[in-house]
Amino acid sequence: MTEHTLTVAGVAVDTRHWIGGERVASADTFTDVSPIDGSALGEIARGGPAEAAAAVAAAKAAFPGWAATPRAERARILHAVADGVEKRIEELAIVETTDNGALLRSHRRGVMPRVAHNFRFFADWLLTLDHDDFATRGHTNHVSWDPAGPSVLITPWNAPLMLATWKVAPALAAGNTVVLKPAEWSPLTASLLADIAAEAGLPAGVLNVVQGYGAEIGDALTSHPDVRRISFTGSVPTAQRIAASAAPRLTPLSLELGGKSPLLVFADADLDLAVDLAVEQYDNAGQVCLAATRLLVEESVAEEFTRRFVDKATRLRQGDPRDETTDIGPNIHPRQLEKIDGFVRRALAAGARAVIGGHPKDGQYYAPTLLTEVAQDSEIVQEEVFGPVLTLQTFATEDEAVALANDTRFGLAATLATGDRERAERVGAQLVAGTVWINCFFVRDLQAPFGGSRHSGVGREGGTWSFDFYCDLKNTVTAPKGWKDHG
Ligand code: NAD
Repeated sequence: MTEHTLTVAGVAVDTRHWIGGERVASADTFTDVSPIDGSALGEIARGGPAEAAAAVAAAKAAFPGWAATPRAERARILHAVADGVEKRIEELAIVETTDNGALLRSHRRGVMPRVAHNFRFFADWLLTLDHDDFATRGHTNHVSWDPAGPSVLITPWNAPLMLATWKVAPALAAGNTVVLKPAEWSPLTASLLADIAAEAGLPAGVLNVVQGYGAEIGDALTSHPDVRRISFTGSVPTAQRIAASAAPRLTPLSLELGGKSPLLVFADADLDLAVDLAVEQYDNAGQVCLAATRLLVEESVAEEFTRRFVDKATRLRQGDPRDETTDIGPNIHPRQLEKIDGFVRRALAAGARAVIGGHPKDGQYYAPTLLTEVAQDSEIVQEEVFGPVLTLQTFATEDEAVALANDTRFGLAATLATGDRERAERVGAQLVAGTVWINCFFVRDLQAPFGGSRHSGVGREGGTWSFDFYCDLKNTVTAPKGWKDHG
């Protein structure tokens, strides 16, 4: 143990940045706190413009070597990173849970295996990435995906390592080098990822991790002239700042932002399935960008739906996320809890009725809440709460359901519960959303394009779309004439 190490349940985490294959301290630090009990986990290196410049310089220096590394070798190293993640699933799971409060059982069985899969998927996809040559009046067109260069990846706290590796894996597979800045409320697993990547043989400088507050280190990263791509997941106001910062250099951006997604429940739906889908929206204490927080229920079944929903939701167990039997853990930070409660207070003052919940509980927990009697143009229906707060509105016709569903500034996802295939197709086609789920939720294949419309984002990632973003696509046109051997 050194002064630069903290331990979580026996797992040592280096608290310094990872730049050019070396641990680098900062003069300043910030305190990392566990949302489970408010305890301080340790002091984390607090980077600013100097660390940002050093990390981009390291990524720039490492770029030519990594970009020239044969695809098969890049893929081999990414599989070795996945092996390292798989070996450390237990450690990553307990560190992530302690740092961000999401359920240990989900981290163990769902999230961390998916982190490994992120590396395997993009390593394998890289090897299949090809476009058939095609001819134009006897000329050959050849499309290639050229690595773009150093990429800045900025990620949030609600699913830290999962969301970071959705970006890190395709960026590295594409041949880019990376500067990753994890969120200041949950920086620990990114530091472990740096260790794992180094052990897997990723060359120095190919992956760099810098920590700190977005307001202090962010601008230096996103305005840097040597940065060729910026991929950001987080809130709309931060995305607007990043877009402004990147604008002078026209650095290409991928933005995965917030949502206010609907769950449409038609009278012909399997009502138990619809209730299960609705209750699932409390997962991760509601801190899920894709969460369908607006329940839109056909009038004729609204009463029965609500009765069954309340019955199920009030049986959810809220508490310590390390306990295998817990369904809902804490919210990330006292500030987030205040924000959630502010939304609910204002909604109640405006006439909403809390069917369940509507208040904070001891510690950093918020009671799962369902609000009815909410107006379509009210703040609680229009704005992302990012907590365990759902609203319920009713509709009389399919057209009304679609109109309500599409009437926010977001367009990340939409979920439909219906027993009628034709309706599913008809309604699905009209919804403004990057992903539409029919009688299911959260099924995500990395082959699929992922992203949001309107204020939910810019661009799509996943499968070939990730490579389209992280690469400079080039078309080389070769003429049939002019060759010396042809005279
Ligand atoms: P946030 O925007 O506050 O912070 C996200 C990241 O941006 C953090 O790492 C932060 O340090 C950094 N940052 C802050 N200011 C910056 C600046 N000026 N320049 C550069 N970086 C800066 O978001 P959050 O509260 O951490 O995350 C919650 C939000 O993320 C919600 O809106 C949620 O919907 C969204 N989200 C979206 C997706 C998606 O895939 N669409 C997934 C998860 C979360």
